[in-house]
Amino acid sequence: MTTSGSGSGTATGTATDTHCPYCALQCGMRLRPGAGAEPAEVLERPDFPVNRGALCGKGRTAAAVLRPGVRLTEPLVREDRGDRDSPLRPASWDEALDRVAAGLTRARRRHGDDAVGVFGGGGLTNEKAYLLGKFARVALRTPHIDYNGRFCMSSAAAAHRRAFGIDRGLPFPLADIAGTDCVILVGANPAETMPPALRYFRELRENGGRLIVVDPRRTRTAEQADLHLQPLPGSDLALALGLLHLLIADGRADKDFIARRTTGFAQARAAAMAHWPQRVERLTGVPMPQLAAAAAMFGEAPRGMVLTARGPEQQSKGTDTVSAWINLCLAAGKAGRPGSGYGCLTGQGNGQGGREHGQKADQLPGYRSITDPAARRHVASVWGVDPGALPGPGRSAYELLDSLGTDGGVRALLLMGSNPAVSAPRAAHVSERLRALDLLAVGDVVLSETARLADVVLPVTQWAEETGTTTNLEGRVILRRKAVDAPPGVRSDLAVLHGLAARLGVPEGFPEDPEEVFEELRRASAGGQADYAGISYGRIRAEDGVFWPCPAPDHPGTPRLFLDRFATPDGRARFAAVTHRPAAEEPDGPDGAYPLYLTTGRVVGQYQSGAQTRRVDELNRSAPGPFVEVHPVLARRLGVADGEPLAVTSRRGRAVAPARVTDTIRPDTVFMPFHWGGDGRANSLTNPALDPVSRMPEFKVCAVRVEPAAGERGKGGGGREAAERTGLTEPTQPVQRTESAARSASEERTGRRTAAAGRTASGPAAVPGRAS
Ligand code: SF4
Repeated sequence: MTTSGSGSGTATGTATDTHCPYCALQCGMRLRPGAGAEPAEVLERPDFPVNRGALCGKGRTAAAVLRPGVRLTEPLVREDRGDRDSPLRPASWDEALDRVAAGLTRARRRHGDDAVGVFGGGGLTNEKAYLLGKFARVALRTPHIDYNGRFCMSSAAAAHRRAFGIDRGLPFPLADIAGTDCVILVGANPAETMPPALRYFRELRENGGRLIVVDPRRTRTAEQADLHLQPLPGSDLALALGLLHLLIADGRADKDFIARRTTGFAQARAAAMAHWPQRVERLTGVPMPQLAAAAAMFGEAPRGMVLTARGPEQQSKGTDTVSAWINLCLAAGKAGRPGSGYGCLTGQGNGQGGREHGQKADQLPGYRSITDPAARRHVASVWGVDPGALPGPGRSAYELLDSLGTDGGVRALLLMGSNPAVSAPRAAHVSERLRALDLLAVGDVVLSETARLADVVLPVTQWAEETGTTTNLEGRVILRRKAVDAPPGVRSDLAVLHGLAARLGVPEGFPEDPEEVFEELRRASAGGQADYAGISYGRIRAEDGVFWPCPAPDHPGTPRLFLDRFATPDGRARFAAVTHRPAAEEPDGPDGAYPLYLTTGRVVGQYQSGAQTRRVDELNRSAPGPFVEVHPVLARRLGVADGEPLAVTSRRGRAVAPARVTDTIRPDTVFMPFHWGGDGRANSLTNPALDPVSRMPEFKVCAVRVEPAAGERGKGGGGREAAERTGLTEPTQPVQRTESAARSASEERTGRRTAAAGRTASGPAAVPGRAS
């Protein structure tokens, strides 16, 4: 038995135990390096308890992105410094890092420390997220650091903290799902986003449990449910309030649990009582018999769980929506005891850990608040700086992107592990802002759409080429072990931060070795909510993951939270008195300019902005490009057949993609996956209206019109073909400029209908059956 790579992992033959680079399930896998020029091989790892050997197509093909022909292997800089339209050309690492450091320094000198910023990603390891936060606050002294995780789980995180005093995606291991009695799965489609997790839902039903799925689309997950509720996009809050109303009215509230372990029920009850079934049917489109059936199914179950994902969270009222679902759990007495609870199925690979260690604009490591004097003192002491020198909170992700290149905004940006030119809402505008920067430096594995806009591109190592920890959706801290050597010319993100910090006059405190960074992270997180003090690489190897909080080396870790008390000052969970409100932008009726709902999401064959997965032939065969899902009723009205191009227009832009005609979607709603740039970029359309608490944009609902687009095919940009081109002489991505035109049209409209009225008229055509 030999060990490949860093020698830090368990090895079987020449294969190393590691984890998938993509989603929050962080499936265990083995990776065997290829002989010579042969590609590495992904093998099953049945002993890892979360996925038990199962992998989806993305995980099975993950090694394809390790090939030198696919990924970047040398730094790139603009031929003419400062001219974003000049071609990118290869450069030495010294030249590239010198350019970045000079650009950051110039911006600070001209405009102050607040004129530089950092943008990270939910896929970065804990070590990278931690060091990126430290880099922003210590080396750059800027408050402006945030990350794309703000776009994913932040509403659930805010609601979690509001109710329970702590934010961990799942307060129990995923396997507990199989042992409960009823699960309500809200706006989640694990059949496509994390297929190996489906086994637990199947086992739930085999054990006699019931599954209720809430989704505007009849997804592959919904098809496996005992009951599918198909609400209007953006109406989940009203739905949760309606179910709470029925639970209370039917006498199924757990009065003893409410009295012993919660506060605030009276106010939440009053809010729910204003959402009687007829009203909720009107607001959501879910028929009253289905509402009653769901409330009875959940209320009668001895144990139960509510799990949310991006559907209810990516809304301008996402925090309140998640709070409403938590209220339902609490009122039913289904929290804080084995087999019951509320949880969030996080999305990105390190969506959980990425938000715990200082990558967020308002947080310091250990999930500490940056405005808390004690937290600032603790972290400053670990970093060896004066607490007063630490900046305060910065702008949230979209607000940071929106400020780029403006007076008073960020003028020079270091971006790592993110592709906002595809993944941000109102993406054409965000691309314009990125182009307006004095300096854009991007660290990435591939030449993403955002990297194509950069002045300097830094080629960095990826998952299997480096060691680091991530924290999966259960709060289990795991070790992704190095399994193959990186190609020459590539450096780790940690090495990039080390090199830049040194050039900025901070030569100490930015180690390149991940374990050394993790040891510092342990100290920085000690005593915080996300306490990693007792977790070490050695323990993770020996135990195959450790659940936080784990405050001491002899602490067993915490697979199940809240069994004795919640993490609030009085130990009680808090109800939130929330009420329904419409989406920031609702369709304006059958004769309006934007009569339909658009909702966005993922498909099984691609991951997030597709920067990596669009480089994989097998995945491109299963998910070759964007599409617009339309109901047959709508397709007939538009006069389009399956596969014909459709133009989708919102107040922010336009996208073109082939129609996919299916009766699994509501007739008043269209769906687009968001994995592609180019003409079919779904985020050209989405609305950056922000949740007031989490600052999360409203990706899941906006108003659009849809028209045939004969002669236009609609393609995703930056796919395999783009990857095969070196991109060195490619023009940068054209920026769509339809927003002002769309705004003019919007301003011409008068008398915008109310949400309820618009819903009653229900879009482009009479909606048969309201919901199916
Ligand atoms: S479910 Fe997620 S972690 Fe597992 S193989 Fe697929 S993408 Fe990777």
